[in-house]
Amino acid sequence: MTNTDYKTAVEQLKKYSYHYYVLDDPITTDEEYDILYHQVVAYEHEHPDQIIIDSPTQRVGDVPQDKFEKAPHLSRMWSLEDLFNEQELETWVNRITKGYGEVRFYCEPKFDGASLNLIYDKGVLVQAITRGDGVEGEDVTQNAKTIQSIPLSIDYQERIEIRGEVVIFKEDFEKINEERLKNRESLFANPRNAAAGSLRQLDTRITAARRLVFMPYGIGFNALEIKNLSERMEWVYALGFRNPHMTHLCETAEQIEAFYHEMRVERDNFAMLLDGMVIKVDAIAVQDELGYTVKNPRWAAAYKFPAIEKLTRLREVILQVGRSGVVTPVAIVEPVSIEGVVVERSTLHNFDEIERKDIRIGDKVIILRSGDVIPKIIKVIASERDGSEKVIPRPTQCPVCNSELLDEGALIKCQNLDCEARVVNSIIYFASKQCLNIDGLGDKIVEALHQSGLVRELIDLFNLTMEQLLALEGFKEKKSRNLIDAIGAVKGCDCWRFINALGIEHIGEVASKTLCTVFGTAFDTASREEILALDGFGGEMVESILEFVRVNGAKINALREVLQPTEPIKKIAVDNPFKGKTVVVTGAMSVSRDIVKAMLEELGAKVASSVSKKTDFVIYGEDAGSKYDKAVELGIPLLMELEFREKISAS
Ligand code: NAD
Repeated sequence: MTNTDYKTAVEQLKKYSYHYYVLDDPITTDEEYDILYHQVVAYEHEHPDQIIIDSPTQRVGDVPQDKFEKAPHLSRMWSLEDLFNEQELETWVNRITKGYGEVRFYCEPKFDGASLNLIYDKGVLVQAITRGDGVEGEDVTQNAKTIQSIPLSIDYQERIEIRGEVVIFKEDFEKINEERLKNRESLFANPRNAAAGSLRQLDTRITAARRLVFMPYGIGFNALEIKNLSERMEWVYALGFRNPHMTHLCETAEQIEAFYHEMRVERDNFAMLLDGMVIKVDAIAVQDELGYTVKNPRWAAAYKFPAIEKLTRLREVILQVGRSGVVTPVAIVEPVSIEGVVVERSTLHNFDEIERKDIRIGDKVIILRSGDVIPKIIKVIASERDGSEKVIPRPTQCPVCNSELLDEGALIKCQNLDCEARVVNSIIYFASKQCLNIDGLGDKIVEALHQSGLVRELIDLFNLTMEQLLALEGFKEKKSRNLIDAIGAVKGCDCWRFINALGIEHIGEVASKTLCTVFGTAFDTASREEILALDGFGGEMVESILEFVRVNGAKINALREVLQPTEPIKKIAVDNPFKGKTVVVTGAMSVSRDIVKAMLEELGAKVASSVSKKTDFVIYGEDAGSKYDKAVELGIPLLMELEFREKISAS
């Protein structure tokens, strides 16, 4: 790097920081930022005399915005040194143990949100200030008071600063962006920006509606005599702050590395976004001796997780036609590796979203892949366009059968019931695991059966013969026999599987089970009012069922005839504390969770998969994670597995 390159890099970093910290609207990924940042650090290390005074390596964050009153912190706030691999971790640990011998390290999650400093005096929250440049930040006290996990008073009289990260639940982040899409507002690139943007809202009501969460991570100014950080944090939790649960004391780099890997595995199970693990020297006396650089404590470091957001380029958009005829655009991007998985495709939802996000072919985009979820394009870097990018037109003809498409705005549909894509996808769905689970009837075989003309609709599956299959390419005796047996084996299937397998739009496993429990296999005779009265059934679902039954009545009858689904045995649950209640089961139990769920269903409870205000109980086992946290957050009664069993026995 030459001095000119260095100056350009510093300018670029300053521009990135301004968009990230001040506007809450980044124009690149953290990974790109970090790479450039480390090049700048390396140059400054070689040429200490040339360091630019306001280089991002010399300062924390960015200047506070003018929207809010500025307010000074009682003691400075800091950033953290980053570690990216085992070797950097070892060097960092050695640097400390060399001077201090045996040192214990307190490890905790690094939540990705916005830093907030809470000042309490005489037991009352008097001020909440964003980190800003570390010396002064923005006074967001009124907004902070709307955050339920920030106690307005604490049982401690001395003046003290409690520091933490304001974060947003991943699921709330999705909801906020959906809402913003509807209102044609710009989207938040990630939960971090959503949290920071929501905290720094001039309208307190907006902050209140965003359900922000405060995760404490440290103490600033204080008069405490507690000697270790781990004990101080226990003291903070006891004051009424949230406990992140996954914390651990380690003594060696190997132990830290092992705990880091444990946390990485758990990363997706946290309800909030984690971007790493923070390692801190436990003894406050050692922290004080180690002190600070211009930017970071020398006694703490952030051991970063691999990036889940990457920069790539949109190559083209292909169209997929689903079983209900909906045409979905799929982005094909330049391949990028995210956490060891090569990502080449991403969903684009629908054409309205493409237009709202103004995504064009050739655009530089930020793609996110978190856990098992389908990769998403979360941002277009419009500032880097060179004019060669192409607008993506709305399709007017089905890419598979060429018939004219119906454009309903958000949804574009192929109306042709015989469109090959629709038929093939509905058969694939029919045979899938969550439906009739027909072994050996995968995508390729369904396509072959359809193309040969043997299977034109679902019912044809049940008329297949050995001779017909043996005449097809690639079908030998054993494969053909197995397929016919597997299709035959679905006769007498559970009634809910039969309903689910029909592929009625908006009707999934849970709704199919409810329909089956209440109406049995004759669900198609239920009236609009009867279906609407069911728990969890909205207007859209009801209309979808009625329309499906109207168009496909004869086909449903024919399938019922061959499948002979089993009617559910109706047991009337005796009175018990769970009857009619909504229950969530989480964590490892003494038996499989499905057994606990079945027990609950027999007791007349409804077992839900996520915790919401409507949940009546959460039953938890070992290692319960985000669902447990959410129940605590919402004040929902929690029962250990043993307590649950005791309650049943008692009743
Ligand atoms: P940081 O976010 O990497 O780490 C410091 C912050 O971590 C603290 O201020 C605190 O808010 C938070 N934190 C979370 N859990 C913590 C815990 N347990 N203990 C202590 N602190 C905890 O540092 P930063 O200075 O805020 O930002 C630097 C990073 O931000 C860069 O590495 C980069 O990834 C990102 N960034 C990105 C862009 C962009 O354009 N994409 C621009 C600027 C910065």
